[in-house]
Amino acid sequence: MGHHSTTTRVQKYIGDPTEGLVKEVSYEVMEEIFQDIQSDLRFDHELNGCLNCGICTATCPAAHYYDFSPREIVQLLWTENLEGIYDAMQEKIWSCAQCYTCAARCPFGNSPGGLVMLMRETAIKHGMESAKSVLRPFSRVMLKLISTGNQLSPDMINPDHFADWGPNICKVDAPLKLLRQAIPMPTLNTIKTAWETNLKTSIELYTIWEETGVLDQLETIDENLFDVIVDIMDEKRDDWEDFLDEEED
Ligand code: SF4
Ligand code: SF4
Repeated sequence: MGHHSTTTRVQKYIGDPTEGLVKEVSYEVMEEIFQDIQSDLRFDHELNGCLNCGICTATCPAAHYYDFSPREIVQLLWTENLEGIYDAMQEKIWSCAQCYTCAARCPFGNSPGGLVMLMRETAIKHGMESAKSVLRPFSRVMLKLISTGNQLSPDMINPDHFADWGPNICKVDAPLKLLRQAIPMPTLNTIKTAWETNLKTSIELYTIWEETGVLDQLETIDENLFDVIVDIMDEKRDDWEDFLDEEED
């Protein structure tokens, strides 16, 4: 990569170009981003060469509906095309459905879907605008997950959001609260969570999220949500301590 001048600067549109928000990205930043992707332990396992055969793209459901091609992503990484990699991280990588059909088909044993995941994690680590805008709508899901141990709950399902269910939408419109009270398992007698997660499990989940860096990622992407979530975690941990104290007495 020595042929690049360290002062090379590339103009990039970040976010919606119509907003006129233009940021300059230096060659060093693009190089750092690529190195973060490449230095991950999974990288060598998921990229073993590329024939440019296009089998992955032919089997990829996302490629049928979006301007997205796993072959292109793998080629960018294989040829170390720093600008192309950075460019793909602005939008294209967020189209992958993470179904891993590509990984089951590639004659080189590559995992294009796994490589996309590495690029997503790196986009989050660098606090890229693309990561923030893609993940913003999921803040409610994240909040639900941290506070209840469930990603979704029946009371989050709004019939207006599921037009594609057709006539089946009446199942959501039903008196869910009443119906769920009829379920013999008490942990399901609620619409605020899909099921009740006990306190000990919640505390264990917090430890996992801390140890694996999930909470650090969240802090980079959405500081306000991070603060709310830390408060919830502190509260639950206090509850757990109180419970243990009571057990001892
Ligand atoms: S994991 Fe992503 S890239 Fe691979 S086939 Fe599925 S949608 Fe396409
Ligand atoms: S990643 Fe595999 S399937 Fe896709 S173009 Fe390269 S060699 Fe072919």
